[in-house]
Amino acid sequence: MLFEPTLEVALKFDESDTLAKYRNEFYMRKDSIYLDGNSLGLLSKRAEKSLLESLQDWKTLGIDGWMEGTHPWFNLSEKLGEMCAPLVGASPEEVIVSGSTTVNLHQLVATFYQPEGERTKILADELTFPSDIYALQSQLKLHGFDPLTHLIQVKSRDGRLLDEEDIVAAMTDEIALIVLPSVLYRSGQILDMKRLTKEAHDRGILIGFDACHSVGAIPHRFSEWGVDFAFWCNYKHLNGGPGSVGGLYVNRKHFGTAPGLAGWFGSRKDKQFDMVHTMTAADTAGAYQIGTPHVLSLAPLIGSFEMFNEAGIGNIREKSLRLTKFLVDSIEQELNGMDFNIGNPRDDERRGGHVSLEHEEAARICKALKENGIVPDFRAPNIIRLAPVALYTSFEDVWNAVQILKKIMVEKQYEKFSNEREVVA
Ligand SMILES: *Cc1c(COP(=O)(O)O)cnc(C)c1O
Repeated sequence: MLFEPTLEVALKFDESDTLAKYRNEFYMRKDSIYLDGNSLGLLSKRAEKSLLESLQDWKTLGIDGWMEGTHPWFNLSEKLGEMCAPLVGASPEEVIVSGSTTVNLHQLVATFYQPEGERTKILADELTFPSDIYALQSQLKLHGFDPLTHLIQVKSRDGRLLDEEDIVAAMTDEIALIVLPSVLYRSGQILDMKRLTKEAHDRGILIGFDACHSVGAIPHRFSEWGVDFAFWCNYKHLNGGPGSVGGLYVNRKHFGTAPGLAGWFGSRKDKQFDMVHTMTAADTAGAYQIGTPHVLSLAPLIGSFEMFNEAGIGNIREKSLRLTKFLVDSIEQELNGMDFNIGNPRDDERRGGHVSLEHEEAARICKALKENGIVPDFRAPNIIRLAPVALYTSFEDVWNAVQILKKIMVEKQYEKFSNEREVVA
């Protein structure tokens, strides 16, 4: 520890924080410390503005909003793909903002899972988000395969983390496709995407990543690493709003691969309105769009991406690492002997944007935190996820949140709640 965490240290960090000015751009709830930006990011004034502009265009232009709006709707998915590209380390044509995480996963598996001969299995892991597994199981069934034999899930040694050695060992010549998280949603572990991509390609396997918990929190170099495809949601760290449209990346070496799930919005823009029954797919990641974009769920991203590009993902990552370190150090110092365990990796290269705090009473400690104005989230069976967000959380917030948690533990405030999760945890 380079410093003893104290309120004074927190205030000093805030004073020299070059991203502190962005806090004023967000709608922060009064008397509340929001540590759930990895589940649903807060609304910014810029996102609100770009949404209201699109609403205004509908009001005044009707159908002409498609071509003549402030942010013309017809090219909005492409324009947002271009704005998002620096966040994932891709060229503008390799990214499209379209669909949702799960729909994009279906699209990408339908496109890139091409079982042949002995290569018929899909490799994933046992800690990943359930929706991804449901999607992979159903895709296997569509090909007539039994998910019990054809979906291989790499095991975790400790229930928290994955070991790259174990993943590489599972890359046999029966594997046709690999889908893994970039950052694990519970423990916050970052997988070594560069290494895994190389190992997969050395064995002739395609590999893609679910970047839901990494996009907007850490930098990526998808193009440079040669990652085949990736997909993510924009409502977590990227603050696009509830149900915001997701993102998809396809490496340019795959441009021209026919979309597995085709639809007219995947057409080349100049051909789309020819209205013929032979599709001319776009020669970019745009080919993997399906239908008409959800314009009102795209529009907030214009303002939000603008802010991310202005702040710079490198600066965001640097502050995020300092915030999570300050949080972990404060927890260890202040909550010592209270049966908490830090479940996320400690190394900067292995730690994503949130802290995974484990406790047997986690479900009801979360309820007590909420009653005290702290917003975490709970992940079964025993995890309190705490995400201090670089653009709007201060070091003082982090210090205060830990002090409130300490008070809850000392006074056993959680005992008045049942230790069960809420319907939406
Ligand atoms: C949030 C999240 C999802 C959610 O998928 P949607 O299709 O947006 O509901 C999927 N995967 C991971 C890893 C997530 O964190």
